[in-house]
Amino acid sequence: MLKLYNTLTRTKEDFAPLKKNTVKMYTCGPTVYNHIHIGNYSTYLFSDLLKRYLNYTGYKVKDVMNITDVDDKTIKGSITAGKTLTDFTAQYEKMFYNDLKLINILPAKKNPRATRYIKQIVKFIKKLEENGYAYQTADGSVYFDISEFKTYGQLANLDNQNLKADAGGRMASDEYQKDNYGDFALWKAYTAADGDIKWKSPWGYGRPGWHIECSAMIMKLLGDQIDIHIGGEDLVFPHHQNEIAQTEAVTGKPFVKYWLHRAHLKVDDQKMSKSLGNFLLLNDLAKTKAGLMAFRYLIVTSHYRQPLNFTMDSLQAAAEGLNKVYHFIDRLTATRGDDSKIDETLNYLEENNRQFAAAMDDDLNTPQAIAALFSLINLLNKIIDQNLIGSKSVKLILKHLKKQDKVWAFIFSRKSLDPLFQRQIETLITERNTCRTKKDFTAADKIREQLLSMGVEIQDEGSDTKWSVK
Ligand SMILES: [Zn+2]
Repeated sequence: MLKLYNTLTRTKEDFAPLKKNTVKMYTCGPTVYNHIHIGNYSTYLFSDLLKRYLNYTGYKVKDVMNITDVDDKTIKGSITAGKTLTDFTAQYEKMFYNDLKLINILPAKKNPRATRYIKQIVKFIKKLEENGYAYQTADGSVYFDISEFKTYGQLANLDNQNLKADAGGRMASDEYQKDNYGDFALWKAYTAADGDIKWKSPWGYGRPGWHIECSAMIMKLLGDQIDIHIGGEDLVFPHHQNEIAQTEAVTGKPFVKYWLHRAHLKVDDQKMSKSLGNFLLLNDLAKTKAGLMAFRYLIVTSHYRQPLNFTMDSLQAAAEGLNKVYHFIDRLTATRGDDSKIDETLNYLEENNRQFAAAMDDDLNTPQAIAALFSLINLLNKIIDQNLIGSKSVKLILKHLKKQDKVWAFIFSRKSLDPLFQRQIETLITERNTCRTKKDFTAADKIREQLLSMGVEIQDEGSDTKWSVK
């Protein structure tokens, strides 16, 4: 049985969705004011892995990932860029979907943009007002009164009694820090700094606060109660706590059954930031020899609740690990033995299925599941060495791996390993062939050496040049 660590109860719990076979799942998506960095992608990869595993075990997953296209940052960015909010955010949203494809993240059933849900958001805030949880201030903004919500602070294990006392006022910013708790904005009154970004509401012109966007979209698209809510651990407080307060204040029912959070990703032991110059995008990784599938693989080599320290060396090491899997597939598809060890092979595959399920059921223990995959590969490599794997066994093994790869999504993705790297190789080969045509063999050899240093071996077959990654 699948067990998941629930941030709300701080224990591993048996997973049982509200409705027998369908899982309603929501992941806080990106704020589209800039390129999305690899820390965000580590969370989306975790969400993708869980969804894939739920599918693997037979659940139907109804998942939503929102797009935050209005908040303090998107407004500021669009005004600075001299673009409309829609145009400004659309470009980053487009790049985001493109990135998801590059790392084999399955598209969510829905990707709602907050600006399309203003009507629902206003309705939501009105309901909070009716229920006595919201109040308007002199400037026209509307705030959530956290003292009215008795379990406020529970998700982050904070004491509600002290929250209000420490608050020292209301927070209008979407990004207030843990040490200045307080009532948070549901609706922000229009100010000149918002340019022409504003919507009409019963409280005057303004725009929604960030937290209410998720609550309103979840209610509209998934209902009052959902099974799983995912985000980076930096969202536990205040964002997710505020989502709970808003939704439960309207519905009176428990909002989310399982809260799951992905631990931080650091780069070179430091928090990613523009000023430190360690702000990495998928594009940066795609340009490396290791490539993007290595990133996908790297993410599962440690547990999602362990902070991950990303370095270029760790990416390279991941690529080497992944190459072992690719080498195995190459050997397997090339082997021409007999099938005399087919029973043994079948036993290994069954054992691997058991180990995979046991590891993944244990709060997605991916490092353990990866270890099981490698022990299978080692065992099978030994039979290949003895030339005792024939076409029937090969078929069974490939079928087994393809099934498991519905969860991993990197074993049979070698071709999409890294499109930019691939392009770079092809450009070099074209250059080299031009040198050869011109009989400049010194230059041609230099390019061959350059390719070798990138881990690429080439072989000339007539006028054609074949290449492979070592
Ligand atoms: Zn959210």
